[in-house]
Amino acid sequence: MPIQQKNTTPQTQTAPEPPSPLEKVKGQPQLLRGMKDILPADQPYWDAIRTVVEDNAHSAGFSRIETPILEAANLFTRTVGQETDIVEKEMYVFVDKSGDKIALRPENTAPVARAFLEHGLISWPQPVRLYYLGPFFRHDRPQAGRYRQFWQFGFEVLGDAHPVVDAQLVYLAVSIYKALTVPVTAHINSLGDSVCRPNYMKILTEYFRTRRNSLCEDCKRRLQKNPLRILDCKEPDCHTVSQDVPQIVDHLCEQCRDHFVRVLEYLGELEVPYTLNPRIVRGLDYYTRTVWQIMDEGVEDHYGQTDLGGGGRYDDLLQQLGNRPVPAVGFAGGVERLMMRMRERQYVPAPIRHPDIFLGQLGEAARKKSLKLYDTLRTLGIRAAESFSKDSLKGQLETANRLGVKYALIIGQKELMDDTILIRDMESGIQEVVDFKKVVPEIQKRLAKTNGAVPPEKRVAV
Ligand SMILES: [Zn+2]
Ligand SMILES: [Zn+2]
Repeated sequence: MPIQQKNTTPQTQTAPEPPSPLEKVKGQPQLLRGMKDILPADQPYWDAIRTVVEDNAHSAGFSRIETPILEAANLFTRTVGQETDIVEKEMYVFVDKSGDKIALRPENTAPVARAFLEHGLISWPQPVRLYYLGPFFRHDRPQAGRYRQFWQFGFEVLGDAHPVVDAQLVYLAVSIYKALTVPVTAHINSLGDSVCRPNYMKILTEYFRTRRNSLCEDCKRRLQKNPLRILDCKEPDCHTVSQDVPQIVDHLCEQCRDHFVRVLEYLGELEVPYTLNPRIVRGLDYYTRTVWQIMDEGVEDHYGQTDLGGGGRYDDLLQQLGNRPVPAVGFAGGVERLMMRMRERQYVPAPIRHPDIFLGQLGEAARKKSLKLYDTLRTLGIRAAESFSKDSLKGQLETANRLGVKYALIIGQKELMDDTILIRDMESGIQEVVDFKKVVPEIQKRLAKTNGAVPPEKRVAV
């Protein structure tokens, strides 16, 4: 039964006031600590990051790979390292119903290496360039811009030992931040390889052993197992002790030294802003030779939360997974922290593409006719918005105004009888009656002339 019109009084909808998001209602489910919902207001930043990452990846010849969130826990203990914070303290591990020890992936280099071997990418023309964007998990202490489920984009180049690849990856990383208006510097170091690192570790251990009492408890333990990690300890005392530490770059073997010098030369050619930083050791066992961290230039102390991402070479990792050596290098950047920096810098995300037109209707028969038109328009690629569930035309037009559409196409009782439709220009408020059969070409013609939505200041009241 059609609802009769002349219903010009606005209908007020009385919905119960939703509770303030800050108010905790007893018994109501809440986010786990360290987790984050990515709300609509965040999405324009996400879109910007995703677009820039994908554009840069594709233009540099990278193909996308996505691996599962769950992996066998030993994939990470074997590669990232048993003694690292990630594996020892932060990895989410559980035994599943089959009794297998499973981990929520804390990083993606090991899974990508696993996939590379498992699917025979090793027989593809080398190098293989892969990129990804996905969520990772670490049971870390939550801090600003750091969550227990966090998103990373990353790049891996497998099957190439040349130092120019390291430089290109640093360049790619810096380009991405630049495109997102976050100026950065690459802090770079070399960790040597299995030839020269053991000797440096002895020198390092000797140095710290004589200063053991000044180290924090964690570092006293690291001294036995992983003295390199003392260099990036954030405790002020450890920081002071490691001020005059012998630097690894002075103890590299000839091949590692040559590799590092060439990486720096290529960075110079590419005009990448970089600084040598002997404290960059990265927390993971699998790194060899070049390692780097991307630091926000706007923040001075890199002992805060200023690193936006990092990477390095991992020439031994694939061999550790049971294969022949495959030289490789990768980079990963955190999305949440980057988003925080973009917000601080008042980055303006590209506007979301608004609907082109709005379909207004009055009465059940008009609603049905309007629905049919809705399908026709969308099939033609015209973005049509609507409030089909609303009866009040005033309320519908208010929605149209809020959406910033250029035109509203309205079918009321009279238009239904005459087989016509009203085209309302939302900017001027002028309405025109056109033959219903001609509305599609007419609106296509009008939309071709305009581009974009009506800006808020030009929208007229309905
Ligand atoms: Zn320490
Ligand atoms: Zn070496």
